[in-house]
Amino acid sequence: MSKYSFLLTLLLSAYLFYGCSQTESAQISQVQEVTLNETERTPLLLISIDGFRTDYLERTDTPALDYFLSKGVQAEYLKPIYPSNTFPNHYALATGLYAENTGIIANNMFDPELGRFALGNRDAVSDGRWYGGEPIWVTAENQGVRTATMFWPGSEADVMGVRPTRWVQYDNSITYPSRVDSVITWLQVEDYTRPDFLTLYFSRVDSRGHGHGVESDSVTAAIEYVDRQIGYLIDELKRIDMWGNINIFITSDHGMASLSEEKTIFLDDIIDLDHVFVRNWGTAGMIAPRDGRTEEVYNQLKAAEDEYGNVFRVYRKADIPERFRFKNHPRVPEILIEFDVPYAMTSRSNFERRGILAGNHGWDPESPEMHTIFFAKGPDFHEQLTFPYVNMVDIYELMCHLLGLDPAENDGNFDVWERALR
Ligand SMILES: [Zn+2]
Repeated sequence: MSKYSFLLTLLLSAYLFYGCSQTESAQISQVQEVTLNETERTPLLLISIDGFRTDYLERTDTPALDYFLSKGVQAEYLKPIYPSNTFPNHYALATGLYAENTGIIANNMFDPELGRFALGNRDAVSDGRWYGGEPIWVTAENQGVRTATMFWPGSEADVMGVRPTRWVQYDNSITYPSRVDSVITWLQVEDYTRPDFLTLYFSRVDSRGHGHGVESDSVTAAIEYVDRQIGYLIDELKRIDMWGNINIFITSDHGMASLSEEKTIFLDDIIDLDHVFVRNWGTAGMIAPRDGRTEEVYNQLKAAEDEYGNVFRVYRKADIPERFRFKNHPRVPEILIEFDVPYAMTSRSNFERRGILAGNHGWDPESPEMHTIFFAKGPDFHEQLTFPYVNMVDIYELMCHLLGLDPAENDGNFDVWERALR
């Protein structure tokens, strides 16, 4: 390369990176200069459409997703981990670990040393001490593969002291086309910071499901809107000559079910709320009784199971079913109330202030309403193939395989992917 063309490359990279307004907010982590690995690695783009229930695909016209699937593979469904909530599942996908092994047990949780974790609490969300396990971007960065995240739960934290080479602080106002533009820009970086693992995240289908319910026109419109973004992404990948040279996953974290007032349970009708800390409301009730009250509170809740028609189950921490892979973490409080779909709990005062959500998730991953999607397309995958269901924790092993990385210890299984891969 001549001095001139080298300079041009540098200028071009600078332009590409800074030329787009939305990437100005991107943070570049310190990267050590490493020689570009000359063995060709096919980049991997991981896309999440939050709250995309399996049957949403048949709901309306989705030309871009249909085109994607005509060139790729599809699992019958993707089974989330318990609880089927956003942070636990996006982070399970990234690490291949169940909640009891990451410590991300809910979107809202409490840790005796770290205090409260909530999605809106930026200090907590970006504090690596909350996150157990090794997410794929840490595995990759530690093995010399650069990563770039256009939003992903956990990607803003210094997990094990490592962040993606490029990452963006969560900001829901960044438009969806701008998010796609960032990924397209990053794929054209020509120096050693070019990422081979990238993410893209869209929340609208989930938020419309919460706000208007599964059956609403608003959810249909959100599905169509996100489908158009996928269409734009495909067009842009074709424009930069990458469509045939990149592996892409389109997936999600959980499904959605509609709530109703008749199926809302008021916790303060059963126990005295002054006797407990409620760490998590909604569809997975996580209750920490105050000093010495555990037996009393447990007995009151347990007695209510029958009275309410057995639409929920009350567990002592030690008795939480093994299959949830949930109980073995210090952040899990003493009592769990696990509801049938579509039952959920609130308090009288909260109900009077805010009513209930139109839709929610968080229930048992075995419930069909909580099942979600996994689609993949790219040089490493067959075309037009459907294979049996996969577990959220299985995806980490697949990502490591595609990127040529040694996986960290995880709860996943690679064998499920053999049929999908070329
Ligand atoms: Zn949600």
